[in-house]
Amino acid sequence: MPMTPSPAVWGALLVACKVHGNIDMGEKIGKLLIELDPKNGGRYALLSNIYAKAGRWDDVEKLRALMKENGVKTTTGRSTIDLDGIIHEFKIEDSDHPRAREIYAMVEEMMVKLELEGYVPKTSEVLFDIEEDEKETTLWRHSEKLAIAFGLIITSTGTPIRVTKNLRMCEDCHSVIKLVSCVYKRDIVVRDWLRFHHFRNGKIKEENDGLKERDSGLKELQIKEQV
Ligand SMILES: [Zn+2]
Repeated sequence: MPMTPSPAVWGALLVACKVHGNIDMGEKIGKLLIELDPKNGGRYALLSNIYAKAGRWDDVEKLRALMKENGVKTTTGRSTIDLDGIIHEFKIEDSDHPRAREIYAMVEEMMVKLELEGYVPKTSEVLFDIEEDEKETTLWRHSEKLAIAFGLIITSTGTPIRVTKNLRMCEDCHSVIKLVSCVYKRDIVVRDWLRFHHFRNGKIKEENDGLKERDSGLKELQIKEQV
């Protein structure tokens, strides 16, 4: 008996379209999902990301307007790191931390070291039509990168770093943390909204570890964080 695909199945297809850059199909599925579930911010975020990757900035703007019209709320991305029982929390471009100056200096250092290792910023992860160098700067201010920079400053060499993120990590953070684990010789664990990511010496192990596989990450993605 033929079955109608559930929103979760459509959602998984939409993620696949984003990953493989299938714009036409992604657009059709994205619009369908928004119609089915107009209050779910994740649907807009994924479609917006597909448009951004294709450089369709007018469509990105229209989608934002539609989100507002539909009263969709987004969640700000936050990353936390627990050091000696004290929780330090970071949001994108955070400058509230008392050691913000050192943290940004460390971020600069990480950038230089990683670029020497061949890192190329994934600026397609930025959802706004801004200059290329601004996109790179924005990427480097994602909350998990700030939390890891702080971890590198505050803990001694070789100490593992554990970070928790309330949303899903973007592809650029994934690549950066992978390289950081190798260059700085640190084991890094990031538990994001979807799963645990274990980074060791430039290799990654992903596991759900008791976390339920949830609707293909279609909650609130980085749409707000990348503002
Ligand atoms: Zn990121």
